[in-house]
Amino acid sequence: MRLLVQKYGGTSVGTPERIRQVARRVVAARRAGQDVVVVVSAMADATDELLALAAAVTPDPERHPRELDMLLTSGERISMALTAMAIRDLGEAAVSLTGTQAAIITDEAHTGARIEEVRATRVREELAAGRIVIVAGFQGVSRAREVTTLGRGGSDTTAVALAVALGAERCDIYTDVTGVFTADPRRVPDAELIAEIGYEEMVELASAGAQVLHPRAVEIGARYGLPIRVRSALRPDDHPGTLITRRVRTMEQLALTGLAAKSGYARLVLRGLPATMAATARVLSAFAAAGVSVDMAGHADVPAGHRQLQLTVREADLERAEDVAAKLLEALAGATVEVKTGLTRVTLVGSGMNGVPGVFARAFEALIAAGVEVYALSTSASSFSLLVPADAEDRTLQALHAAFAPARERA
Ligand code: ADP
Ligand code: ASP
Ligand code: MG
Repeated sequence: MRLLVQKYGGTSVGTPERIRQVARRVVAARRAGQDVVVVVSAMADATDELLALAAAVTPDPERHPRELDMLLTSGERISMALTAMAIRDLGEAAVSLTGTQAAIITDEAHTGARIEEVRATRVREELAAGRIVIVAGFQGVSRAREVTTLGRGGSDTTAVALAVALGAERCDIYTDVTGVFTADPRRVPDAELIAEIGYEEMVELASAGAQVLHPRAVEIGARYGLPIRVRSALRPDDHPGTLITRRVRTMEQLALTGLAAKSGYARLVLRGLPATMAATARVLSAFAAAGVSVDMAGHADVPAGHRQLQLTVREADLERAEDVAAKLLEALAGATVEVKTGLTRVTLVGSGMNGVPGVFARAFEALIAAGVEVYALSTSASSFSLLVPADAEDRTLQALHAAFAPARERA
């Protein structure tokens, strides 16, 4: 029998009525003659609420990663059981399984574990017995039998990994928008639905902050050539959504795929450094040694033989970054540091970014008209990123979307 994996996100199982609606959709697929495996997220804001609960009990929940995972996995356990009940009420056999029961084997990295193997023996047995199987998303078990979670948004990754392991024909990700858009449709009203997108572009968009898919889910899909469809859980299935698949990109001309944003960045400007490669290397090595990853870097020589180095880091690493900078300043007499927090990294993904004159000019003209100050920029062959104040994020997305949407490559 053909096998389909369906994943339902938090909003899609957010209320008892929505869970019953999910059950109806699952049962319809089953009655159309398919085996169905369902992966569910925790209901609505359940994961955020569990995190808030932890923070109310202990000042620093991150000091207890194992217990955080024990706590967080309970969210998906609730929705899986309720979904199984709703399906059974409609007259189909269904059983729910935790990540441990489904034998989703991960490494030991609590709160950010990676899947090493999907055994899914029990899932196969239950399918063979004619049952619909509901699997808790976002969780697994390590070889030491510790319960782990895959990182926020990780239910998508559970679903795609299961789909690959079980030989499903496709993985359908049901969510609260009708598909993947050229930008977050809640922020950019003009955003357009993308009918079809290649894995590589989708990985870039997701990594740049497009929340709609967990980047690791797309990477797994790409590695095994598994088609992924993103579609609405709140609309009938005749709405096709977005298909993520292998796709040949435009070779040369500039084409917009989409825009995404990620908040929580800070910029450090170190001034008065010696204008030597050795000094720059020393600064970068000091950051690396402290485990601070530098996102964007740029340097410039300024008068008086000094060099200025600009580094972008995650705000979560800022305290460590400032410690490193303070020590460096002590060692490099005369140097100063200036820190700017509250920045967002806006990324435009497309093709033909390099070698097309005027891409930056077009971006900057649009941002000047929108009154947005840019703090840093970086480019690759298929994207460019700008660092802007968080309160200018929506304006930046809208201005860049308007400027580049005419260069969209339509499927
Ligand atoms: P789920 O709970 O179903 O996993 P998420 O909240 O993780 O849903 O992802 C869906 C949300 O992603 C949408 O509500 C939308 O606001 C946001 N989003 C960000 N970028 C995009 C984009 N390019 N296309 C569609 N949705 C996007
Ligand atoms: N419930 C988890 C989260 O909120 C996993 C997911 O929804 O994908 O991050
Ligand atoms: Mg999600």
